[in-house]
Amino acid sequence: MNVHEYQAAGVLANYGIPVNPGRVARTPDEAEAIARDFGGVVVVKAQVHTGGRGKAGGVKLAKTPDEARDAAGHILGMDIRGHIVHKVLVAKGADIASEFYLGVVLDRPNRKVLVMSSAEGGVEIEEVAKTDPEKIVRKLGDPMVGFRSYQGRELGFELGLPADKVNGFAAIASKLYDVYFKEDATLVEINPLILTGDGAWLAIDSKMSFDDSALARHPKIEEMRDIAEENATELEAKKSGISFVKLDGNIGCIVNGAGLAMATMDAVKLHGGEPANFLDVGGGANAAQVAKAFRLVTADPNVKAILINIFGGITRGDEVANGIREALDEVEVKVPIVVRLSGTNAEEGKTILAEGGMTAVSSMDEAAAQVVTSAE
Ligand code: GDP
Ligand code: MN
Repeated sequence: MNVHEYQAAGVLANYGIPVNPGRVARTPDEAEAIARDFGGVVVVKAQVHTGGRGKAGGVKLAKTPDEARDAAGHILGMDIRGHIVHKVLVAKGADIASEFYLGVVLDRPNRKVLVMSSAEGGVEIEEVAKTDPEKIVRKLGDPMVGFRSYQGRELGFELGLPADKVNGFAAIASKLYDVYFKEDATLVEINPLILTGDGAWLAIDSKMSFDDSALARHPKIEEMRDIAEENATELEAKKSGISFVKLDGNIGCIVNGAGLAMATMDAVKLHGGEPANFLDVGGGANAAQVAKAFRLVTADPNVKAILINIFGGITRGDEVANGIREALDEVEVKVPIVVRLSGTNAEEGKTILAEGGMTAVSSMDEAAAQVVTSAE
């Protein structure tokens, strides 16, 4: 789960990392009032779950409350890469002397937590990694002993910080590591972390993602969920107990079992196709569940063909076949459907489908080849 910048700033502040004061506005009037309260220069920033807002025109400095009102009027309602801006953060303007990147993320190959930093702050770290990978310095925190303060100091020296700034930097790196670890985050990033004209450290933008499976033990983080930012189809699926992840291809997949759903996507790719989604119908593949799955999959206009891949274990082939036929009475599906049915009562299922004018194959490979051809 992702959170907004202003929420991430609140988390940083709770861990003692200095952030610039700010408040959220939903209208230009509110933005003006906040700017008047703060006095002086403020920055008005779009609150959406995507980065690069600066480049897209979603971050504006305002010298007066009137300018803050205009900036908010301009930014509210903007579409930043498919994210509509409903809120802006009005923060006290920072006097930037230099900008850094500081991030904490899981390093799977090393089975440790990676703390990385760069003096090329403000720009996206993926860009730096591509163009100047040597400008990123890294240290691994051991899951048993954590991230040690000497590692933070080493990072600071490797960044080329003046000696009197190293301890302050190391303290922030340790605190950010704590945020990552204690809040079960999957990514925490400060970009930019700045040195102000007065030589103080300040986090002026941050991004955080949290492990969905751990949210149960972080009710305060869970409360930060912004439904407006989540994929509507994925939310719909969650309500019906269907695991659904939208992807960019054109072959809709409806499968029972998460492992088989992964294997199905591989099979589609092996035959040169691209899956439009991952979908596990979960426990029973009854008519209601299959109908729901059809609705989820066909809501995506990219879908050109659907592959239903069912392996009957506890789920029975005849039940699934009846489910598919009933679901098709209920939902209009305009693209070709390929069914693969195998396992318990598969033959009975095939007969039921045949009575409804549909055919099913037994081999997953054959089904994947067919659906790729149908989509073309
Ligand atoms: P992002 O583009 O979504 O990452 O948004 P940021 O909050 O990181 O803002 C982008 C850039 O705007 C930063 O790298 C800064 O250069 C600039 N910026 C943001 N806040 C301030 C501020 O308070 N004062 C000044 N002078 N520049 C700012
Ligand atoms: Mn940023």
